[in-house]
Amino acid sequence: MRGVVQGVGFRPFVYRTACEESLRGWVLNEADAVRIEVEGNDGSLDRFLQALRQTHPPQARIDSLEVSEVATASDAPAPEGFEIRASSGQAERRPTLPADLAMCAECLQEISDPRQRRYRYPFTNCTNCGPRWSIIRQLPYDRPRTSMHSFAMCGDCQAEYGNPGDRRFHAQPIACPKCGPQLTLLDAAGRPLAERDLALRQAADAVGAGRILALQGLGGFQLIADATSELAVQRLRERKRRPDKPLAIMLGPLSEVRRRCRVSEAEAAALQSPAAPILLLARRRDADGVDDIAPAVAPGNPQLGVMLPSTPLHHLLLAHAARPLICTSGNLSEEPMAITARDAVTRLGSVADLLLTHDRPIVRPVDDSVAHVIAGRLQILRRARGYAPLPIRMHCELPVVLAVGGHLKNTVALSLGESVVMTPHVGDLETALSVQVHRQAIDDLIQFFGVRPQAVACDLHPDYASTRNAERLAQAWGVPLVPVQHHQAHVAACVAEHGLAGPVLGFSWDGTGYGTDRTVWGGEALLCDGAEYTRVAQLRTFPLPGGDRAARQPRRSALGVLYAIFGTQAADAAGAWFTTEELGMLIAACGRPRLFPRTSSLGRLFDAVAALCGLPAWVTFEGQAAMALEFAANPEVRDAYPLPVRAARGADPAVLDWEPMIRAVLADRAAGLPVAEIAARFHNALAAAAVQAARMAGCRQVVLTGGCFQNAFLTERVQASLRDAGFQVYVHSEVPPGDGGIALGQILIAAKKLNSKT
Ligand code: ZN
Ligand code: ZN
Ligand code: FE
Repeated sequence: MRGVVQGVGFRPFVYRTACEESLRGWVLNEADAVRIEVEGNDGSLDRFLQALRQTHPPQARIDSLEVSEVATASDAPAPEGFEIRASSGQAERRPTLPADLAMCAECLQEISDPRQRRYRYPFTNCTNCGPRWSIIRQLPYDRPRTSMHSFAMCGDCQAEYGNPGDRRFHAQPIACPKCGPQLTLLDAAGRPLAERDLALRQAADAVGAGRILALQGLGGFQLIADATSELAVQRLRERKRRPDKPLAIMLGPLSEVRRRCRVSEAEAAALQSPAAPILLLARRRDADGVDDIAPAVAPGNPQLGVMLPSTPLHHLLLAHAARPLICTSGNLSEEPMAITARDAVTRLGSVADLLLTHDRPIVRPVDDSVAHVIAGRLQILRRARGYAPLPIRMHCELPVVLAVGGHLKNTVALSLGESVVMTPHVGDLETALSVQVHRQAIDDLIQFFGVRPQAVACDLHPDYASTRNAERLAQAWGVPLVPVQHHQAHVAACVAEHGLAGPVLGFSWDGTGYGTDRTVWGGEALLCDGAEYTRVAQLRTFPLPGGDRAARQPRRSALGVLYAIFGTQAADAAGAWFTTEELGMLIAACGRPRLFPRTSSLGRLFDAVAALCGLPAWVTFEGQAAMALEFAANPEVRDAYPLPVRAARGADPAVLDWEPMIRAVLADRAAGLPVAEIAARFHNALAAAAVQAARMAGCRQVVLTGGCFQNAFLTERVQASLRDAGFQVYVHSEVPPGDGGIALGQILIAAKKLNSKT
């Protein structure tokens, strides 16, 4: 059997099923599968097979079940009963691993019951739950090859581990207070203060008193603070240097989430799934007096990022603190997450007052995942804990390709046969430290699966740190380097996810990506077929004063747009945002394309419209202004601004001309129209333009991809308009629409290029 069949209680399940039918034989984990040999009468064999097909452990996923008859060796004595054999280490390595799993209900019951020996034990787990990818060093998945290898099982654990009737039968990370990992509380300088349960209680009390805690979680350090204390949250923001970006909170049980947020059935299922992601939920406006979340958690944001506690450690901490807790990655802004206590003391000592650490080593960083439900379906925005490294199923056999991803929200991907494995979210490669983590993630992936890639795929941007890492590897291995255009990679990621064949029109709408014509792309409609693409439509370009700096200053995008329409007269409308001196300089430079690149970025157009609407002219993270515009939009408004798509001239792409729209926005602003209306008309205009462009391209299959499609309002409007017009529309689900997904697209394009050469 192949699929997700290791680390999910699969062999015990096979054992029990075989014993029920009194079959003789064995089961064992191979690196790429579970192999079973059974002997018995026809009736029992049939029932056994049927049971394997129909029922299996909740976290298992069966991709294939091959059955063949083997002759009973006449010279070998018939086996007595059924046994679980030791894993064989050979065979080709395929990704059959599950991701880390949130604590199950039975384990929760045990840690809550004073009569149980695991009462209040923060490292409780069983075959249905617990750490996996964050502790596995090598395949096949057995305890000696995990970071639990140094903990010798006590007699009680050994008995459970060896008892086929027990829930912990062959649970590799099995542990108890007697033999397993333990907690230690450290002060900010790394000096021990307390151990075990006392450490946990003191840590939770400190958080309750407004202190900031660095918690060694499942896949790395997290920063914990009282989410109801404005002072504590402000302090965390200051120290972490994260002024505005929303912070995730942890609370539970589900009823507590419902008190503060609206939770649909699909959303409840996602929150309670074994992946237990941070889910973006709409805050309740009718929450009379119960919304106790401090305003600084998500300033001006109608949503909250919420997760339920997913490990016993988080459960116990939350229960003792008895209030919603901020739970955010343990890093400084733009740095990677710390995973060892030593690293945490060095890097987080200035942020946290205390550190709650433990001695179960984290093998690799696994951050919390982020998702939202969009048009009734779960869409992953940051793919990490609970999802990585679950393989993405491809619909054909691929050569082994390593893809190094992009620059922001980086992930790395590796194709293995009909699967692609993606690392958990690596982050933005803006610091030397994160570039190093990127390298480690690549080395880890290559080493883990023991393969030598036939090609290395990267972004077309020559200056990305990821591109330089890719060049180095391709050279070392003597294999081709395949640069893939950023927006083509976005489209290919969605194509790969849905296994689409034939030509596809991709709306690749995002912040920035390196174009092939010296402009910065980001509002593209690409007609993609195989490894090739044609740019059939683009957003009309405008100068981007300050280049990359513009991403944090919507006023600059606004000036660029105004300059494109009014030339030097733009100064009149942009006067409020700049000093006279700045404005003179910027406007002069707008006319000199060598100084400021031109861009077709829709992300920057969002920024421009946000600034024109009087929303913040400065922001602290990319996408902040676009989010403000999304949240401002009134869904009741159905009319749209004019956004004509001007047909292609010669070989040039068609152009979405935003000038009439911007003029209308300016007029509406002057007339005092509410921003809610302007924002909605802007979104609706994009939906209408998408339909127009799709009709011109004449391709029935359409995918929506790129960072702009994290915007639920935009996605729903564009999707609905295209569907009404008869197009088949695909959006991301398993893989993020933003740059976290492009490694998958790079793989697909590189594989197609390799195949077309042979
Ligand atoms: Zn469990
Ligand atoms: Zn034990
Ligand atoms: Fe992008």
